[in-house]
Amino acid sequence: MTKTMNYSGKKKNLILILLLLPTLLFAAKKEMIVIIDPGHGGKDVGALHGSIYEKDVVLNIGLKLGKYINEQLPDVKVVYTRNTDVFVPLHQRAAIANKHKADLFISLHANYCGTPSITGTETFILGLHRSQENLDVAKKENSVILFEEDHSERYEGFDPNSSESYIMFEFIQDEFLRQSAQFADQVQDQFRTRIGRNDRGVKQAGFLVLRQTGMPSVLIESGFLSNSTEAKYLDSRNGQDYIASAIFRAFSDYKKGFDSKSGFNIDEKAETEVKAEERTEIEEKTSPEVKTEVVPPPAISQTAQTPKEQDTYFSLQLAATLKDIKTIPANFKGLSGISSRKVGNVFKYYIGKETKYEKIEALKKEVCKKYPDAFIVAFRNGQQITVKDALKFLENK
Ligand SMILES: [Zn+2]
Repeated sequence: MTKTMNYSGKKKNLILILLLLPTLLFAAKKEMIVIIDPGHGGKDVGALHGSIYEKDVVLNIGLKLGKYINEQLPDVKVVYTRNTDVFVPLHQRAAIANKHKADLFISLHANYCGTPSITGTETFILGLHRSQENLDVAKKENSVILFEEDHSERYEGFDPNSSESYIMFEFIQDEFLRQSAQFADQVQDQFRTRIGRNDRGVKQAGFLVLRQTGMPSVLIESGFLSNSTEAKYLDSRNGQDYIASAIFRAFSDYKKGFDSKSGFNIDEKAETEVKAEERTEIEEKTSPEVKTEVVPPPAISQTAQTPKEQDTYFSLQLAATLKDIKTIPANFKGLSGISSRKVGNVFKYYIGKETKYEKIEALKKEVCKKYPDAFIVAFRNGQQITVKDALKFLENK
């Protein structure tokens, strides 16, 4: 009897191990998912040189790149945002990547500029442009949203052609910037050393499609259609083969880093999820009480007013800028319930409205993870007062 029980106990253990095995293997080595995003498509031809369209060039490069990955790296899953000549809205491209919880997003484009002699490749990562030239590329690529009927609601009034719209990228905190920059470097490296392209470097600019993806992401400008020699190269089978294989080699190198740091990507995802949770917590704490519209400038005369308790409160100042920035979450590292106030020539941005000092301190702890320099301020009847005065008033009420 005991023997049978032992046997069945062992059997149960064995079954348990067998059941757990796939999970254990999965935890040890995760399948890598890469998104290949050929820009433009359908009614949106992108840049062009005569009858050579950007949408066709980048689709061909993308399909070749996907083919190389499928053939040579069987443990990588390739997902296309489009693999035919169709129009795909920008937000949908990012949504596809996010839905698949992809590990890398590669957007493929070809460049155009007013100076036909300019040639070469550049790879962009998300950030604030450092030159007019980089801003122009972002404007050109972001303009595709104008093909979308509901673009003004969908992208919260973002005007791709207005330089002011791009100020928000100053506030962008991209958790994946380091990895994006690493891959971008590898791409440019391959372009320069293996296929002899003019290397225009890794650059930063405000691309909407990169902003909306929650993973390392790059946008590759594979050459200038405004230069006739390069346009012919981009349109040729050989040229497309070379470009795709250069990106493939860069990807293969990048993947080695992904594989060797076993689990580091998984950890990072978990960390992102925690951050998202914190974000909701902050939103819940603050959004019902804080108005998002601009607070009118304080009244000049306060003498006739009798102060009320609810008119005295603490808040957190996050930032100050010279230009008025929309108080949408995208501009404030995902935080909502931001209010702004114009003080002299400066716009100041706040979060939280608490009458208990402990509560504002707790909020500060959370917010400081995103804004390490956030500090507590106090208001009474619309006027900023010292925190000390606010404490005194609230205690003596
Ligand atoms: Zn493009």
